Amino acid sequence: MNDIIEVQFDLTPPTQEQLRELAADLSDKERHLLLEHGEEAPFCGVFLTEKREGVYTCRLCGLPLFKGGAKFESGTGWPSFTAPFAEEHLRDIRDTSYGMVRTEIVCARCGAHQGHVFPDGPPPAGERFCINSGSLEFTPQGELLPDKLRRGAPEGEPWRS
Ligand SMILES: [Zn+2]
Repeated sequence: MNDIIEVQFDLTPPTQEQLRELAADLSDKERHLLLEHGEEAPFCGVFLTEKREGVYTCRLCGLPLFKGGAKFESGTGWPSFTAPFAEEHLRDIRDTSYGMVRTEIVCARCGAHQGHVFPDGPPPAGERFCINSGSLEFTPQGELLPDKLRRGAPEGEPWRS
């Protein structure tokens, strides 16, 4: 849990104006997922079979949230990861909806809903980050990271893990 982070991302939240701009770029379905804490049906996400090296970024603000190498086949029908890109890139929220106590995770920078974290993942950490495909975008190794907030490097630069 104390991974050394080689590159620092600017975690300053977007302004209300920037958030409005980013949200205007979403489909109705994406808006529901990201801003109204929606949940997509299992086995329909576009990243379920994605196995390349690269980085998964927040669909709304472009912050890297997971690395391709941390993705595993959980059999649940949602993309699942063993660890976040960096601890401080995700925020936990206690979710008591549907009569269950779960830990919801949101993007630490823009607050967009990502999914839930469960304590039944593979060792050593034993965590399973269960994420909506629609909350993420994928940048394959060597391609340019998104820079949705025009923050500059490392955003907008080629991604190498
Ligand atoms: Zn975000």
